[in-house]
Amino acid sequence: MPIDATQPYDDGNIFARILRNEIPSSRVYEDEWAVAFHDIAPVAPQHILVIPRGAYVSWDDFTARGSDAEIAGFVRAVGHVAREAGLVAPGYRLLVNIGGDAGQEVPHLHVHIFGGRPLGPMLA
Ligand code: 5GP
Repeated sequence: MPIDATQPYDDGNIFARILRNEIPSSRVYEDEWAVAFHDIAPVAPQHILVIPRGAYVSWDDFTARGSDAEIAGFVRAVGHVAREAGLVAPGYRLLVNIGGDAGQEVPHLHVHIFGGRPLGPMLA
């Protein structure tokens, strides 16, 4: 069920629980600003999710309320994760779903990293 990107942050969402280590995830990276783990239902050979440690519902919420340090730290973490996964030379794709029309399901900002095969044209 897609979320409403304007909803208040729900501290019980699945990625908040992953951040708090209440439920397991396959972590590939973490630092002060971000945590990255494998998507539970990958749609590419490499499908990694990167989430900020802060409580932000969506990209919109993050870019409106996040500090410059959080945003810079998070964006750098996304680049780092893709680099460490060896995806720069072959190429990769970033995707962020924001709200209902985009089909965002989890109400904690997450950037998808897709790679490991030719990804085909972008579908708008
Ligand atoms: P969205 O549609 O919100 O952009 O993407 C949500 C993503 O989270 C989906 O690709 C889905 O497979 C993934 N996901 C949902 N629940 C879990 C979970 O409990 N663990 C992990 N690792 N991924 C999840």
